[in-house]
Amino acid sequence: MQSGINFGSKVFAKRFHYDGDDLGARLTENGTVFKLWAPTAEGVVLRLYPSGHTGEAVRTVSMQREEKGVWSWQTDENLDGVYYDYEVTVGRDSHCTADPYARACGMNGWRSMVVDLPKTNPKDWEHDRAPERQAEDIIYEVHVREFSWAESGGFPEKVRGKYKAFCETDTTLFDRGEQPTGLAYLRDLGVTHVQLMPVYDYGSVNEARPDDSFNWGYDPVNYNVPEGSYSSDPTKGEVRIRELKELVQSLHQQGFRVIMDVVYNHTYSRDSWLERTAPGYYYRTWQDGTPCNGSGCGNDLASERSMCAKYILESVLYWAEEYHMDGFRFDLMGLLDAALMERIRAELDARYGRGEKLVFGEPWAAGETACKRGIHLANQKYLRKMDLEIGAFADKVRDTIKGSVMDAAKVGFVNGARGQEHKIIQSVTAWCEKGFRAPAQSITYVSSHDDMTLWDKLVYTLDPKCQYDVFTPEVLRANRLAAAIYMTCQGRLFLLSGEEFGRTKQGAHNTYNAPIALNRLDWERAWDNHTLVDYYRGLIALRKQLPALCDKGEDAWQRMLHAEVLTSRCVSITLDNTGGTWETIKVIYNASSHAVPLGGMGWELLADGRSSFLWQTPQPIHQPAVQPVSVLILGKRGE
Ligand code: CA
Repeated sequence: MQSGINFGSKVFAKRFHYDGDDLGARLTENGTVFKLWAPTAEGVVLRLYPSGHTGEAVRTVSMQREEKGVWSWQTDENLDGVYYDYEVTVGRDSHCTADPYARACGMNGWRSMVVDLPKTNPKDWEHDRAPERQAEDIIYEVHVREFSWAESGGFPEKVRGKYKAFCETDTTLFDRGEQPTGLAYLRDLGVTHVQLMPVYDYGSVNEARPDDSFNWGYDPVNYNVPEGSYSSDPTKGEVRIRELKELVQSLHQQGFRVIMDVVYNHTYSRDSWLERTAPGYYYRTWQDGTPCNGSGCGNDLASERSMCAKYILESVLYWAEEYHMDGFRFDLMGLLDAALMERIRAELDARYGRGEKLVFGEPWAAGETACKRGIHLANQKYLRKMDLEIGAFADKVRDTIKGSVMDAAKVGFVNGARGQEHKIIQSVTAWCEKGFRAPAQSITYVSSHDDMTLWDKLVYTLDPKCQYDVFTPEVLRANRLAAAIYMTCQGRLFLLSGEEFGRTKQGAHNTYNAPIALNRLDWERAWDNHTLVDYYRGLIALRKQLPALCDKGEDAWQRMLHAEVLTSRCVSITLDNTGGTWETIKVIYNASSHAVPLGGMGWELLADGRSSFLWQTPQPIHQPAVQPVSVLILGKRGE
């Protein structure tokens, strides 16, 4: 029956767009209501189970067809904790499917569960509040399992790799009671936001045996349910919900906001719950009917269709409201349409205040996708037309500093490239001449889960012996310079967990399913390389005191008073720091192999290539020079 239907047409939307906010299974004062949107179905059967993953249905009922493609059934019983799925018949085909709108599920997500959400709230959840926003947003990307898996982290055995590890607030290296790890370490570092790699339910790890495999989790199965393999009991639908809420509560109490990585551009497989309930509707296809693959994962969601847009918008709002998430990082945002991103931004602003919830994403795609005329994708090209508070990863800053991620051998400013000077200057003002509208839109970074770690890239390009486990002075210098550059750019700051301790994956660039032993955060390394961590710590603390860099507005670029190429591979910038301790800031980046002398009087030394804490007792300097492969950060007080 679905063949010949133009799902993208206004006629279809008019006939089948459902405005209600009650899809899924809801408990009411009078019982339980099930509603499923299945516009092309000829019949829908609801099946109820006592278990989430074994045994036969104990009851089956035929759903009633209502308006706008909705099927429903209600009972006066409270079915909290009951598992269910649907059999949807479209044409000659019948498919078993979980509920795409489910808020709880059984092990591995094949059956949905009715859940009484208030019962999943941890103690004092109603008083949970995000900490106050700081002068700067500094986002630290972690994977739940990687964070606490290593024995060196000192986490209790039973919480290692789990949500519950984030409720351990004072762990130390090997539990010896000395060097902080985990959240205690992050508090010292000064990051403001913890970004969780996917924590919605994904398909690539068997929840019955989570230790058998590892995955980043960019393969969504149940968009509105937490992943089960991180919970202490994936067989009980309510447990993962409570434990993820506890994680958020703990991070809030420890002073961090929480960002969730969301993947609305594609599903684990095209044969998803969305496809089984409304075949053909949720996915983009080319004219000849072949599926689009702009995601590189075999399917692209059609975010521009009204019920798909509604689905994504409601999902984001649900995570913000029910789990108190403070921001969203959109995977391959360049595949979603700009109008939807604008709606998400506007709805979050209306509920929580302007810009309170961070919204940003990857402004690109892995390939071409089909899009109707008049639809604009939320990609790099369109960014300038979008809301200031929709951010995007600044790949130009990343590649200018350390070299392209596409070619391991390609170098950038800090590791040998010539001719990057003007791009470095552009990076400081967040490429606002071309590209971004304001620093608010720029997520400034040199490493994320994708590609080689910063350390590995630098070792690969600078150390002929390629020793990833040796802290050679040359690589450390380049690492410090790279950090000093992006930490003195005006965008929001982002780093992959462990960048600050020279995290290595032994040169591997795409470790999405590599063993946890390679992916885990190595807390021993964090302490072996603690002088580098301290360098980051000082830069972060200094950064928060510099309005010249924290300013995110459309006029922030005007704070650039002067920019100059001093010699080849050496750049000086001067910034208006009105509102801070120092009225003017001067930063000199020297990637060359020569010391470069500087003129000018009255500057205090705030940081150099060795120490980023000089600002604590700033000394006037008389004959400044910037050492090879290093930085100088200077401040001048007002008259
Ligand atoms: Ca799962």
